[in-house]
Amino acid sequence: MTILRSPSEMRAWADEQHRAGRTIGFAPTMGALHEGHASLMRAAAEQNDVSVVSIFVNPTQFAPNEDLDKYPRTFEADCALAESIGMDVVYAPTARAMYPEGYATYVNVERVTQRLCGASRPTFFRGVGTVVTKLFNAVRPDRAYFGQKDAQQAAVIRRMTRDLDLGIEIVEMPIVREPDGLAMSSRNRYLDAEERSRALCLSQALAAAQGLLEAGERDAARIVEAVRQGMAEVDIDYVELVDAETIERVARVEGTVLLAVAAQVGPARLIDNIKFTA
Ligand code: AMP
Repeated sequence: MTILRSPSEMRAWADEQHRAGRTIGFAPTMGALHEGHASLMRAAAEQNDVSVVSIFVNPTQFAPNEDLDKYPRTFEADCALAESIGMDVVYAPTARAMYPEGYATYVNVERVTQRLCGASRPTFFRGVGTVVTKLFNAVRPDRAYFGQKDAQQAAVIRRMTRDLDLGIEIVEMPIVREPDGLAMSSRNRYLDAEERSRALCLSQALAAAQGLLEAGERDAARIVEAVRQGMAEVDIDYVELVDAETIERVARVEGTVLLAVAAQVGPARLIDNIKFTA
């Protein structure tokens, strides 16, 4: 396994693979890797000739008051996990290599970024769109793997990939959960025991909503209200029922919808969701 540190090195490696006729699978991450990331890496390794995982804590997607400096960094362990899965490259560019002096170009995806995390974190998706475009341009993947854990992000990347004719297949992988249901997240390590146990109400409220949906409930307001009540112990940022592709709010459940939640639990901002097709 090779560790590459700059866009030019990454691009040279990718061009060589394509010249040899090999397909490239790519899993972009911010590191502090867990089983959720591992599921993306395994799919990338299995479904392509060669595979790349990127580890880059992207400064442009953090607001000044957010956890950029505190974000967990476990590079050695991340590389060991990537190697055990059979990844060919860990692409870990420096912030300087990604955003050199004078950097001035950003990718802004409209509409699909307006609600949910885009409403509470106004510059977040501009950072995500920009960094993913830059990573795609260096890694040149045939397929890129994203988690449903960040379902709005996956919808934004699908929109951007279509709109900019990137010609990359975007694969969305299911949410990997702890045995008790908590969605795995690098930020879970911020939680103490009491916060960890309160955090469970996110997945439990969503599981209860899944039950309502399966029993035939189609009224969005009633489902959202039930989830809000189930999350009384945490500081809710949003509970929203939206179309899974456009991320527009829906009044009734039709087609494929996304029921998404975000909450502050102690020091951690946590998100979770379910998708349901009526
Ligand atoms: P992050 O390192 O948090 O930026 O996440 C990198 C990628 O891993 C994103 O596509 C996430 O959606 C995905 N991911 C993070 N946690 C999970 C999880 N619990 N299950 C599945 N995918 C995940």
